[in-house]
Amino acid sequence: MLGPALELVHTGRAPTRSALTGALDVTRATAGAVTGELEALGLITVDSRPAGGGRGRPSHRLAVNPAGPVVVAAQIHADSLSVALAGLGGRLEGVRYLPLPAATDPVRMLRAVAEAGADLARATTRRCLGVGLALPNPVTEPDGTALAALHFAWPSGTPVADLFAQEVRSADFGPRARSPLPSAVANDANLAALAEHRHGAGRDARHLLLVTSGHRGVGGALVIDGRLHTGSAGLALEVGHLTVDPQGRPCVCGNRGCLNAETDPEALFVAAGRTPDPGGPILDQARRLARSAADDPAAAEAVAHVVDRLGLGLAGLVNILNPDRIVLSGLHLDLLAAAPERLAAVVADRCLWGRSGRVPIVPAEVDHAGLAGAAELAWQPYLQDPQAVYAARG
Ligand SMILES: [Zn+2]
Repeated sequence: MLGPALELVHTGRAPTRSALTGALDVTRATAGAVTGELEALGLITVDSRPAGGGRGRPSHRLAVNPAGPVVVAAQIHADSLSVALAGLGGRLEGVRYLPLPAATDPVRMLRAVAEAGADLARATTRRCLGVGLALPNPVTEPDGTALAALHFAWPSGTPVADLFAQEVRSADFGPRARSPLPSAVANDANLAALAEHRHGAGRDARHLLLVTSGHRGVGGALVIDGRLHTGSAGLALEVGHLTVDPQGRPCVCGNRGCLNAETDPEALFVAAGRTPDPGGPILDQARRLARSAADDPAAAEAVAHVVDRLGLGLAGLVNILNPDRIVLSGLHLDLLAAAPERLAAVVADRCLWGRSGRVPIVPAEVDHAGLAGAAELAWQPYLQDPQAVYAARG
């Protein structure tokens, strides 16, 4: 009961004690006991002056404790690292982007992440309960190895979860951090989907499909009834290798015309017959190119070309997964904004259930979604068992 109650307050679904009572389907006395315990753990605040105002019975206001504990969220991107602190409630604080270290082997990269996170933890007066890290490659479960970490030429099967845990243990997170400090590692698209489900465009969806294109390639994730569907070994939803054009561009996997190769930033530039500036991040440039479609006929044509292929991929996923909402992020968010009707029409045309089975396709809402998801990952043990914060008392 404590865990579900904390998750309801954390995700903003229970702003009052009466909302919590209804959502948990318990008596007022039980809800009062539960909120009292979460307050005693320092995780939430209960406004003792009942929120009145409208008609009906007044109820106490619930909120996450703004002075409560934090976790460190971190993300490794193709061209940078990012770190932030995150209390409950899904808000990141002090988001910091750092350049990649000169040496990008797994140990030095994970050390740089742990040290950047430790800097933030030492600078806050709040207790630090854990660290979550988002990685741009598949991560196996439960052993936590990174597969196909092509960005940095890491050996496939690198034990990232163990290596990161070691670096977190070695770094100085300050006197207020739980010791030993727990850490966890997962794929960035999976974590972004979790963040969108809890705090963004995926809220209340029961079968949420997220598809995203970052700097290179395409990722996907599925959240069913609030939980990530990660398959038998953590490797489900590799949507990037759906074939959407058998004669298409070569893909890193060795095939041709994968969603990965047909709908990522480079694909948009190729379709427009242009070359990105090698000095700047290709994702930002591709997003600008997509947004210029309203005034630039060549950009509009390129958007249409890529949107058609994205639509084919989404239709295949809809037929297999039957989601009730699709959230698009990264470049795909801008493609959706540039050609919403076209994308919806391609998906509907190819779906078995056609227009009657039309799935809402909506833009992602969470800023720094991979980081926000890394925070969710670090909070997960405490959302499952809030009393675990007792073990963290220093
Ligand atoms: Zn492929």
